[in-house]
Amino acid sequence: MDFTLTSEQQALRDRVRTWLKQNLPTDWGTRLRSTSDIPRPEAYEFMRQWQRRMYEAGFVGLTWPREAGGQGLTFMEEMILAEEMALAKAPPVLNILAIGMAGPTIVAYGTEEQKRRYPPKMLSCEEIWCQGYSEPNAGSDLASLQTRAVKDGEHYVINGQKVWTSLAHIADWMMLLARTDTEAPKHKGITYFLLDMKSPGVTVKPLKQITGDAEFNEVYFDNVRVHEAQILGGLNNGWQVGLTTLMFERLALGFGLQVRLRIALDGLVDLARQTKKNGVVATQEPVIRQKLAQLWIDTEVFKYTGARAITKLLKGELPGPEASAGKLMWVEGHQRLQELAMEIQGPYAQLMKGSEWAVAEGLWQHTFLRSRANSIEGGTTEIQRNIIGERVLGLPKG
Ligand SMILES: Cc1cc2nc3c(=O)[nH]c(=O)nc-3n(C[C@H](O)[C@H](O)[C@H](O)COP(=O)(O)OP(=O)(O)OC[C@H]3O[C@@H](n4cnc5c(N)ncnc54)[C@H](O)[C@@H]3O)c2cc1C
Repeated sequence: MDFTLTSEQQALRDRVRTWLKQNLPTDWGTRLRSTSDIPRPEAYEFMRQWQRRMYEAGFVGLTWPREAGGQGLTFMEEMILAEEMALAKAPPVLNILAIGMAGPTIVAYGTEEQKRRYPPKMLSCEEIWCQGYSEPNAGSDLASLQTRAVKDGEHYVINGQKVWTSLAHIADWMMLLARTDTEAPKHKGITYFLLDMKSPGVTVKPLKQITGDAEFNEVYFDNVRVHEAQILGGLNNGWQVGLTTLMFERLALGFGLQVRLRIALDGLVDLARQTKKNGVVATQEPVIRQKLAQLWIDTEVFKYTGARAITKLLKGELPGPEASAGKLMWVEGHQRLQELAMEIQGPYAQLMKGSEWAVAEGLWQHTFLRSRANSIEGGTTEIQRNIIGERVLGLPKG
């Protein structure tokens, strides 16, 4: 990959840098920060406004085609934006599942009408999206999903349950996978629907996580009617369309999260500078220094691996199974970073927000606990290793 910027790309970098300097909200303090990609509940409204402002400045959906409301640029420009966001420690956008997954999938498979209707409102954050894939008995083995969609005239009637559905409690739309053919082999009878979350018969029940936040939900469908025009990518073609979304998800997680990893690492270095360990400032302690240096190296490797993955996209291809490597790097790097944050704090690591002795109002405790989910969400670490083994390295199936 050639990292030399064209004059237009340099101009974009300067424009982003200046805009971020002038527009970065002053109330973006530790209270709202999180190193996860899914925003914390108290930050929703703030991040909705932030995404709107970024969109109006032309900085959301850089790679999306102009007719879908994007800027028609390449992943090179997206990388420049990511770099500047990391340098400025800028907040992420709220509509993360739409920008990272639903939008690119609609652009790839949607009808002209679908491409005009949905992506622009994703970018402006007028409509929030969630992902209805996982079910109580279908997570890693997604093709076993049992939510049914039965044809009734021009509609399909949906019955069943999804679980772990992030942001469903504030979502307007869902990317829904449902079984439309019970006779076909399990990968072949699935259809991808664009479901209006306000449809009668949809019930959302929040689930609390170890952090105390309720980021995700159970979603129940009781005779929910969805018009056939809401199918994305054709009847019984949901497995292929759904996998494309997952590839984009891993790409977004791997590539987009390098920004969050770098911001978290800068924060960790600040924490180490402010903390005494064995009688010296933690940054002077040899073992801590080595661990920080290793994390810095890993963060750089993560960044350049992301650059390698986008070479494929620059050639106009869809992201492939190698995006799983980026996802793994994020997970391992981020979990180690959070563990080091606990080690640096020593006994104070046990104190959450609310204690007068808690460090940074318990921010690191929250992000440490949240980071445990990184190796589950977006496909578990074991599944990513299987994908890399079988589909990248060509090893026999385990
Ligand atoms: C914070 C968070 C947010 C999420 N958000 C969403 C969302 O918005 N939408 C959505 O649809 N889902 C979401 N999920 C669900 C997530 O995708 C699933 O939890 C994940 O795919 C694992 O599925 P499972 O929980 O059913 O575990 P299982 O599939 O039952 O796995 C249990 C264990 O067995 C291992 N395992 C399973 N199969 C294999 C195999 N073939 N080889 C080796 N090991 C294996 C797994 O790695 C895991 O350790 C979210 C999860 C989390 C934690």
